[in-house]
Amino acid sequence: MLASAGGLAVAALAPDVSDQPVQQVLESVQPLALSQQNEVLENHAFRLYRSEQTRSTDSADSLLRRLGIDDPAAAAYLRSNELVRQSLFGRAGRNVRAEVSDDSALLKLYARWSTDDSGMFKRLVVEKTVSGFSTRIETAPLTRSSKLSSGTIQSSLFAATDDAGIPDSVAVQIAEIFAGDIDFHRALRKGDRFSVVYETLEGDGEPMRSGRVLSVEFVNNGKVYQATWFRDPSVAQDTRNERNKGGYFTLDGQSLKRSFLASPLEFSRVTSGFKTRFHPVLKQWRAHQGVDYAGTTGTAVRNVGDGVVEFSGVQNGYGNVVFVGHRDKSTTVYAHLSRIDVKRGQSVGQGQVIGAVGATGRVTGPHLHFEYRVNGNYKDPLTITRLSESVSVSVAAKPTFDRVATDARLLLSAAASVRKVNTE
Ligand SMILES: [Zn+2]
Repeated sequence: MLASAGGLAVAALAPDVSDQPVQQVLESVQPLALSQQNEVLENHAFRLYRSEQTRSTDSADSLLRRLGIDDPAAAAYLRSNELVRQSLFGRAGRNVRAEVSDDSALLKLYARWSTDDSGMFKRLVVEKTVSGFSTRIETAPLTRSSKLSSGTIQSSLFAATDDAGIPDSVAVQIAEIFAGDIDFHRALRKGDRFSVVYETLEGDGEPMRSGRVLSVEFVNNGKVYQATWFRDPSVAQDTRNERNKGGYFTLDGQSLKRSFLASPLEFSRVTSGFKTRFHPVLKQWRAHQGVDYAGTTGTAVRNVGDGVVEFSGVQNGYGNVVFVGHRDKSTTVYAHLSRIDVKRGQSVGQGQVIGAVGATGRVTGPHLHFEYRVNGNYKDPLTITRLSESVSVSVAAKPTFDRVATDARLLLSAAASVRKVNTE
């Protein structure tokens, strides 16, 4: 990040090295003229701490250059070391920190990353020793901490989460948690707001991954939805019990799992990026007996509720279409598909991908036409969301759950005030 090294760079880097005792930083605070400063600094050996992100095109030379390191021996070592090459080169976005001597030589280099859900991270350490450079890769546990945040929808959920510095994976989790209650593609309103408490996983204090959403409140069109993650401790070890995995519950202990998803399109940055989502024509389904979701060809279409495929193939007007029959005698219809992934008679689970958005049949452009029929009568698909098969927390687990819910309420109200602090 620094174009040149020098005495002034020490002062500029002071905030980054706050955890490291560097005597020279204190000295440079003295209001000396530049020439005097340089004189003072030249009389001391000092260390600089710099960080950079790797780029996919990086070589040892380009990475060291950006770190302000001019050290041919270090460059030759990094080029030849297999661990370094595998860890740093051809990989974009890895954070590298270097300790650099006053004559721009490499003293120490660190990189940390976490690529799986093991709860661990890797730490690459390159160190200059008396006998030359040495390299090792260490594995250490990530530490969990909770983050509180909140936001208000102005244009889209992602715009709001971006403003609040919330990672995409957390935005997607929020949409999935309320997938049975809120159609995030069509039902969001300007002024909707949310508060969220989520885990971040850190390696040596550096954020590596965002973890699970712990609790969340979403106010959609004036209606408050709340959820907290809970795993019944009495079944946590019992892998045959579906509840051992845990899930999201309202704060009074009702499961948020619904028999139908509110939207047949998975929520993502791509599918959320359509303006029409914020100007839904509520009576639109009456006009042509379904609702249309804007989407690009190839976007996955998911089955909204457990059922059996009643039809899979081509029908006039509908193009490639799938009909899924559900236990309550309702049928959902997914039309204009570019691709069909299921066969007639096949059982399909909630959320299972059954095909992809396309432009087959009588259409002017790619979109998903979605219908909901009960006993052959067309119904507004938005009414699907109200059907739920709520499951409660077990009586035995309720006292534990109530303590979790009390904490969730406190944290969510604290999270809501995070926004006020930020915007005032
Ligand atoms: Zn349509």
